[in-house]
Amino acid sequence: MFKKILVPIDLSQSDSGEASLVKAVEMAGCTGASLILLNVVADIPNLVANRLPTDYSDEMQKSAAKMLDELSSKHKLSDGSYEIRTAHGQTYHEILDAAESTGADLIVIASHRPDITDYLLGSTAAKVVRHAKCSVLVVRG
Ligand code: ADP
Repeated sequence: MFKKILVPIDLSQSDSGEASLVKAVEMAGCTGASLILLNVVADIPNLVANRLPTDYSDEMQKSAAKMLDELSSKHKLSDGSYEIRTAHGQTYHEILDAAESTGADLIVIASHRPDITDYLLGSTAAKVVRHAKCSVLVVRG
């Protein structure tokens, strides 16, 4: 069964991806798996980045880590049963990278109902499903 579950969380969403976190917590309870909560701080175009403090990305990642920590308390995750990670870059790429580098054997990710932009660009969840080397559970929002 699953041993390490990666839960990518979009902190800009008002529900902070809680539906997928709830599912992941349930699965971890059944399988004894540990959880990895991940937030990816988006890349900023160079033109904008040049006008920001050089430590901007580090500060954003610190603040994301704090928010993930608050979520872990809200969902009563016990010490040692989870870890928090942040990354910086392109979301789906960083999710796939984290899955490989942590040895996660399941990614639990949320997805909205597809609309026209998804057919043109492809959603984050679809890209993760297509390219992940481990299993992926898509929680439909
Ligand atoms: P899409 O609809 O393009 O798949 P969404 O923004 O609806 O993208 O996000 C789908 C899921 O992808 C989120 O629920 C979350 O699991 C993951 N995700 C999106 N953005 C981030 C982010 N910045 N950091 C971590 N995970 C993210």
